[in-house]
Amino acid sequence: MSAPIQSHGGEPAPPAPGHAAARPGEFQRDDVPLGEEWHSALYAMACRQFARAADVLALEDEVRTRLLEPRRSLVCNFPVRMDSGEVVNYTGYRVQHTLTMGPTKGGLRFAPDLGFGECAALAMWMTWKCSLVNLPFGGAKGGVRCDPYALSPGEMERITRRYAAEILPVIGPDVDIPAPDMGTGEREMAWFYDTYSQSVGNAVPAVVTGKPVALGGTVGRQSATGLGVVFTIESAFEELDWALPERSFVVQGFGNVGSVVAQELHARGGKVLAVSDIRGAITNPHGLDIPAVTRWVAEHQYLEGYPEAEPIDGGAMLELECDVLVPAAREEQITHQNADRLRCRLIVEGANGPTTPAADRILAERGIVVVPDILANAGGVIVSYFEWVQSHQKYSWEALEVRERLRTQMRAAFGRVRATADELGVDHRTAALASAIQHVSEAAKLRAIYP
Ligand code: GLU
Repeated sequence: MSAPIQSHGGEPAPPAPGHAAARPGEFQRDDVPLGEEWHSALYAMACRQFARAADVLALEDEVRTRLLEPRRSLVCNFPVRMDSGEVVNYTGYRVQHTLTMGPTKGGLRFAPDLGFGECAALAMWMTWKCSLVNLPFGGAKGGVRCDPYALSPGEMERITRRYAAEILPVIGPDVDIPAPDMGTGEREMAWFYDTYSQSVGNAVPAVVTGKPVALGGTVGRQSATGLGVVFTIESAFEELDWALPERSFVVQGFGNVGSVVAQELHARGGKVLAVSDIRGAITNPHGLDIPAVTRWVAEHQYLEGYPEAEPIDGGAMLELECDVLVPAAREEQITHQNADRLRCRLIVEGANGPTTPAADRILAERGIVVVPDILANAGGVIVSYFEWVQSHQKYSWEALEVRERLRTQMRAAFGRVRATADELGVDHRTAALASAIQHVSEAAKLRAIYP
């Protein structure tokens, strides 16, 4: 961690509209190729990150084109009868970024603003994440544009089951294996598993991960992403020679990732100064009593009103002075607008895509180290892989085995990223991406072009 962090250099030129990199040889180094179909700010961001790492690797144009554009996508519209009797049409997506590495893998996101471009970006990041931690998967992502907070359990079930039926042609235990993401969890995975199994006529537990343990899920899956973030923090602290009990943390998000990160840090003696959820943030300069905060949320659903803390604006929370900031909520939270005001020393990304390339450049100039998403939050998909293996083998592992294997894989991935950063003289995000892209591009070249 002591190695100087490199600047990203100039921002790439704004993307040309249209299908810019359709043919090998036409790739402009400074252009971001964007198919109209999946054009979005987030996809452009994923492309810019890719371009930076591909430049470092001097990757051939034809391989870039093959790796950038999502290989297979499905968009569907389907009707669902609401509790009121009204029929509402929903839009669902499933994007499979590369079919080169094995079956595809990635979560299902239920969010009111979900779009095709967002799924395409998240699917690409899943490819790099799986490659970086040596899982035999390509990346995928999907979901439904809906507001899970505004739906009854019955409506959620009908949406999940109908969506599962719609994407069934591209899903399967050795084809594409969904998992939870924002707005979905064990309950939705159980419905998805049941819908798929009903349609093929027998139970197929390996079709989905993040299932309840009673249905063949693995112990430790729910806390895996948050725990993996904390293992990464521990690896980073070893390099920095920092002791956890002496350090302060701010955690954005108190969902499946952020709440586990806050609990695990608190359990290790870390001082968690502030946490937030979709309604707002709370802070206590002496450190929050995270077990008490967790009990409050279990009872009241939101952080709002927790008595032993002050409310604070969510944006201001990111700018609190602390040692480590953990963005564990949504993408594009740290941008050129707030990066120069952050007062942390280390950022460990629990969310996917929380830092924009422009913010990365500012942070690098300011000497703030960023441990990137595809490394820090890989714990979820690593334990998903364990679950998939157990489902295929019809054999379940003990909690300790899951935890220790997760720790070993996270630590090894951290070591690889550090070594690549030193070898290439680049920042951690570029090193993580370069190492992942190198692996996938080698496989793509070996498989060559069919026919
Ligand atoms: N949605 C999680 C992620 O973004 C996990 C995906 C999975 O387990 O397949 O990494």
